[in-house]
Amino acid sequence: MLDKVVIANRGEIALRVLRACHTLGIKTVAVHSTADRNLKHVGMADESICIGPPAAAESYLNIPRIIAAAEVTDAQAIHPGYGFLSENADFAERVEKSGFIFIGPTADVIRLMGDKVEAIRAMKAAGVPCVPGSGGPLGDDIATNTKIAREIGYPVIIKAAGGGGGRGMRVVHTEAHLSNAIQMTKSEAKAAFGNGEVYMEKFLENPRHVEIQVLADGQGNAIHLGERDCSMQRRHQKVVEEAPAPGITPEQRAEIGKVCVEACKRIGYRGAGTFEFLYENGRFYFIEMNTRIQVEHPVTELITGVDLVREQLLIAAGEKLTIRQEDIVLDGHAIECRINAEDPDTFMPSPGLVKRFECPGGPGVRVDTHVYDGYRIPPNYDSMIGKLIVHGRDRATAIARMRIALSEMVVEGIKTNVPLQQRIMADGGFQAGGQNIHYLEKRMAEAKEKAIGIG
Ligand code: ADP
Repeated sequence: MLDKVVIANRGEIALRVLRACHTLGIKTVAVHSTADRNLKHVGMADESICIGPPAAAESYLNIPRIIAAAEVTDAQAIHPGYGFLSENADFAERVEKSGFIFIGPTADVIRLMGDKVEAIRAMKAAGVPCVPGSGGPLGDDIATNTKIAREIGYPVIIKAAGGGGGRGMRVVHTEAHLSNAIQMTKSEAKAAFGNGEVYMEKFLENPRHVEIQVLADGQGNAIHLGERDCSMQRRHQKVVEEAPAPGITPEQRAEIGKVCVEACKRIGYRGAGTFEFLYENGRFYFIEMNTRIQVEHPVTELITGVDLVREQLLIAAGEKLTIRQEDIVLDGHAIECRINAEDPDTFMPSPGLVKRFECPGGPGVRVDTHVYDGYRIPPNYDSMIGKLIVHGRDRATAIARMRIALSEMVVEGIKTNVPLQQRIMADGGFQAGGQNIHYLEKRMAEAKEKAIGIG
């Protein structure tokens, strides 16, 4: 077993990792910026080290400082959490070259999945269903590109091979705009990601976002833990996630899950990972793989009973997966609401002093947060301050529990998106389930028009 782990992250996920480590009897090292001395997990860790100023580039993204922290504390492994360095292949490589275990897949696999053109090529070869597309990078020949677009059929989407976070993509509806859109996406991608390569896909107009959670030990064993529906999004950011996805049949789940498991084995995947799909008219289309733990992992934990971070640690320690596919039995329904420190109407971040903080409780309620009474949210990082997750025997029970839990949540001193989450839970369309990725923004636009008397 591992003896000591460096947690190279902050906020709720750092606390989540710390809890999993301590449950396994593993000691922890918290590394933090000068703005984060008062983080909850920093006070709970066995050791803590300040690694730099508030700016993430100089602290949470500072590779030499993080590796130095592992060296001086004599730790064996580094857990990257999500965001920051979690999908940085160079980081994973330097961690391993310095003699530490990177808690995640090998650098090669991270690199493969970080290049979307290569990732799609590998997934196609492994039998994973992908969006009809160019199957490779686009050149500069207009006639060839026009032919590819005609074959795919408009609308198409031009996407950067090195893109991420919903950036570096452009939808094209007519042939007249194709060539210009390709050139613009190329130059933007070059400037933003240092890689001007772009590719083309069919633009799916009303898809849902459905993703498959996997665990693999890198020793030939892999399982899937069903799917999550993350279609409630604003600006490509997930707002509410749930598991299982409404309307997905056990047969569909088993089929797509098996495909993902086979792909894991084929690429030598190790650790926890997520295959993200767009889902339209009963079919799955792979868009990307996240080679890390995800924000929304708790909904899967609540319906499967598997502690995913614990499994990450066991895999990193070199243990074989002990959970078999037939052990994964889905129980009930889980929903997660992301709690953000932001204005619920303008979405402006709202950092500052949390004067009072009270969490909900009761059957089936889980709160993953690092916030406490008197905690000051620094302005330097993501506005997500926690996650409210509920579990019930069915979806209606989960929604009912979430509505009560949201009503019990007290956060004073800053603004949060709790009112927005309450509106979502009360919304008839959400309650019906199975809405597409545009639904939330459409509903929000309608509500705004009503409020100012248009339409
Ligand atoms: P990123 O790594 O930037 O998150 P993704 O490939 O995951 O990029 O795409 C982000 C989002 O963009 C998707 O969740 C979806 O909303 C939209 N999108 C991407 N590809 C397509 C497509 N082929 N058709 C429709 N929407 C798409």
